[in-house]
Amino acid sequence: MKTSVFLSFLLAIITLIGCQSNEPSEEWTSLFDGESLDGWKVSSENPESITVEDGSIKCAGERAHLFYDGNYRNFEFESEVKTSEKSNSGIFIHTAYQSEGWPQKGYEIQVNNSFQGSGDHPERRKTGSIYNIRNIYYPLVNDNEWFKMRVKVVDNLVEVFVNDIKVNEYREPEKPWRPEGSEEMRIEEGTFALQAHDPGSTVWFRNIRARALPQGTPDYSSVDKEWDTLVTKLMRAGYPVVDYHVHLKGGLTIEEVVANSQHLGINYGVAPNCGLHFPVTNDESLYAYIDSVKGSPTFKGMQAEGREWVTLFSPEAIAEFDYVFTDAMTFTDSKGRRNRIWIPEEVWVDDKQQFMDQMVGKIEAIFSQEPVDIYVNPTVLPAELMDEHNELWTKDRISRVIKVLGDNNIALEINARYKLPSAEMVKMAKEAGLKFTFGTNNTGRDLGQLEYCIQMIEECKLTPNDMFEIKPDHLKPINVKGLPEKITG
Ligand SMILES: [Zn+2]
Repeated sequence: MKTSVFLSFLLAIITLIGCQSNEPSEEWTSLFDGESLDGWKVSSENPESITVEDGSIKCAGERAHLFYDGNYRNFEFESEVKTSEKSNSGIFIHTAYQSEGWPQKGYEIQVNNSFQGSGDHPERRKTGSIYNIRNIYYPLVNDNEWFKMRVKVVDNLVEVFVNDIKVNEYREPEKPWRPEGSEEMRIEEGTFALQAHDPGSTVWFRNIRARALPQGTPDYSSVDKEWDTLVTKLMRAGYPVVDYHVHLKGGLTIEEVVANSQHLGINYGVAPNCGLHFPVTNDESLYAYIDSVKGSPTFKGMQAEGREWVTLFSPEAIAEFDYVFTDAMTFTDSKGRRNRIWIPEEVWVDDKQQFMDQMVGKIEAIFSQEPVDIYVNPTVLPAELMDEHNELWTKDRISRVIKVLGDNNIALEINARYKLPSAEMVKMAKEAGLKFTFGTNNTGRDLGQLEYCIQMIEECKLTPNDMFEIKPDHLKPINVKGLPEKITG
């Protein structure tokens, strides 16, 4: 009896000493001495995957996790990180030691700059994602260069910074929805862990430090629980929750777009209108625009306007954008009249059926020749015809559009503002193997919440694999198709 009391006492002392060494301090504390894994504990599965190399912790090989011996509630954590191509790793927060398996407790802050997964299991969650809770789909940094990651947790708010730019923000609601088996994916308290994911992946961490932050009161007042649940379900299922069709209109600034993105969890692709009589009208104004949004945590899109756009920009300049989209709302008809079908005074409908046939012909000409990624504002008609939209868009006309998009590997936008195309067309397009994007095409400051797009996921049973993905440079339409001299037909 006496012995066991003594042992307990001894154990308590040892524990106390152990704790003291890693007691979180409000001063920045280095968590890694650059030489050893002192203060860390590696999982018992595949411990050889984690080594120290040139002043950094190297995670390479079969799945393993390295846990820091500490406990943090509110904190700031910082590390420099470097990835090799197709690497996949992560920094866990509020987690706890596990001898094997994927850590169940806390959140994983994703590290992945170029790993795309496999055909059936695409991995779109990029560096800075709060894995499956608030994913980021655009790459922020490159492989083979050091970048800085900082994670900050204060009460119920998680913020992620990459190279000191805030890229993610998540305010956890009270009792958030979590799928069965992931109930511990929560803000609570715990330690940090680094991940070795698979043999194809090599990631280095160095200059790792943390500091405790004072505790306050969680703020739940600004959290929309229903929306949070919806976004988390979509992200977990693997849908890229991206609005690729956002314009800086009505005074909306790129900073406001980013703030809105992080508030809602929707990733945005921001696009200037590029064409004759538009703000971006030649290479010079195109590069100036690109410069103005450089480094912002958004996709960079190009809306190609009118049919002359193919003569206004160089292929190199166009390739600066992540993707290019256009619609069929501007065209010159057989009588030489330039139709801009969203402006009632600039539309000529002599005969409805003839107008439709002509427009479908224009769509075929545009998308077989112009080097674009996405057909946006699909099937929009002049206001005077919108009442008859479903009758005028016959199955035959829809099929012709789907065919030209399919033949040219062009995605179909599901437009949140116009609530188009119809569910019927979405289903036909899915059947034909087309990919889809979500887009708002905002006219002012209100970006909405992709209501119609999310409705179409359910109604048309779209899967994550039905969704468009940004093409790598060598597969960009501008680099595959090049620019036509002019659009014929
Ligand atoms: Zn637009």
